[in-house]
Amino acid sequence: MTAAPVLEKLNLSAANTAFIKRASKLLINGEWVHSASGKTFPTYNPATGEVITRCAEGDKEDIKRAVAAAREAFEKGPWKTMTAAERGRIIWKIGDLMLEHIDDLAELEALDNGKTRSVARHVDLPLALDAFHYMAGWATKICGQTFPISVPYVPGGNFHAFSLREPVGVVGQIIPWNFPLLMAAWKLGPALAAGCTVVLKPAEQTPLTALRLGELMIEAGVPPGVVNIVTGYGETAGASLAAHDDVDKVAFTGSTEVGKLIVQAAAGNLKKVSLELGGKSPNVIFKDAPDLAGAITGAANAVFFNHGQCCVAGTRLYAEKSVFDQVVDGISEQAQKIKLGFGLDPDTDMGPLVSEEQLARVTGYLDAGRRDGVEFVTGGKRFGDRGYFVEPTVMTKTKNTMSVVQEEIFGPVLVAQPFSDEEELINMANDTTYGLAAAVWTKDISRAHRIAKAYRAGTVWVNCYNIFDSALPFGGYKQSGWGREMSGEALELYTESKAVIVAL
Ligand code: NAP
Ligand code: MG
Repeated sequence: MTAAPVLEKLNLSAANTAFIKRASKLLINGEWVHSASGKTFPTYNPATGEVITRCAEGDKEDIKRAVAAAREAFEKGPWKTMTAAERGRIIWKIGDLMLEHIDDLAELEALDNGKTRSVARHVDLPLALDAFHYMAGWATKICGQTFPISVPYVPGGNFHAFSLREPVGVVGQIIPWNFPLLMAAWKLGPALAAGCTVVLKPAEQTPLTALRLGELMIEAGVPPGVVNIVTGYGETAGASLAAHDDVDKVAFTGSTEVGKLIVQAAAGNLKKVSLELGGKSPNVIFKDAPDLAGAITGAANAVFFNHGQCCVAGTRLYAEKSVFDQVVDGISEQAQKIKLGFGLDPDTDMGPLVSEEQLARVTGYLDAGRRDGVEFVTGGKRFGDRGYFVEPTVMTKTKNTMSVVQEEIFGPVLVAQPFSDEEELINMANDTTYGLAAAVWTKDISRAHRIAKAYRAGTVWVNCYNIFDSALPFGGYKQSGWGREMSGEALELYTESKAVIVAL
């Protein structure tokens, strides 16, 4: 299928139409180049299944070239010699250029991913550009420490001991499709602030905004080779990047399954690894929630935001027995009002899932629930017969042993269970291999703190959900990952600490 007729129908901004026509190359060493093999792969509009355009299919050879460029830029280029303030100004400029092009970037993100324009414009973009602005400030604030050492076996010894925080080196970054630009920003911001150089592999489903970001980074003054972008498939380009012996660190966001493959691939040269993986987050509503109607809306948003394609989605709802029916009915009513459609149509509330594969995966879980005997209060099947839409779904009569309760579905699917006792609740909520996020709605302040402490999860929300900020560390307990992104803690992923001891 040729891209042009589809593009005309989409009625995109002139800038995006022009960009999509040139989005078929890789960014290596500051140049836009074809893949070594000359192969391309399609990216689809998930609302229709039509091909938007074809992007370069990077593979092992392209990764090799990109890593060589990143190595050279790390060892020699101006990136290494410029001051931290200069580096910070370039990172800030990336955020500014994103702000300048915010509407076009939001449109492109919505088109490629399927999310609504409004979510892309008001959530993804402001957070993504803020990640660069926030990290720009850190470039000048990465400091070591001094240590009052005593050295017991050197009587009378006199030393000055301190640590340097140095960039970890060449970094491979592999990101998913659910928040494509935001995931790129969370990874690139701290890596650049630390002085690393990068090879970024976007998800095959959503390559477009990363490529546009590549153009903006060149415009912002990022020197050649500092950020290389290789689009392509995970099993080829992604796997080569994770295994490459000249990559010092790999940062990955995606499924727990692939996260484990990354760890294995990294073993060859023992590169550093950070992982942000899946979740199956509990969202708990007590009958004394400060505003039960607000908690119901919060719980609906927690699971349905971004079509449930959020690693932190509040997919396991636990409501206190006396309000359980009211909560489930309230969320189901809201689910039924959600208008599904093309993300660029202004009256759409929820777009399609990102791909045919995700549609099959999510409907597979709905079938598994059906076989296990759950009750569908609302939803439970595919919506329409074109594009990858799934009805917002609420299930009850579930048990903790069922796959729909244990496994990450990554679609607009809620499983709801009642509870009557706080201790039983904590055991149920923590009964998961994941530990990314959790929430509790109550006005009992002691209980809120007790439960926040008892949760085994990297983020806990009290009387709110999905509150993120560049200044907050984000990451997972258990099989939800290794390390924390954003905040000052993210710098630890991209720096090494060097102890220097000077005899006086
Ligand atoms: P995935 O396979 O883990 O994809 C994430 C990234 O890893 C993509 O860039 C992917 O490439 C790449 N990748 C795949 N296999 C690889 C390999 N062997 N070596 C190196 N990189 C590799 O996730 P998915 O298949 O897109 O989605 C499946 C499930 O993952 C979802 O249903 C959801 O449960 C979970 N998920 C979680 C998150 C999160 O934010 N934690 C995000 C997305 C998905 P390509 O896709 O380009 O081939
Ligand atoms: Mg797409």
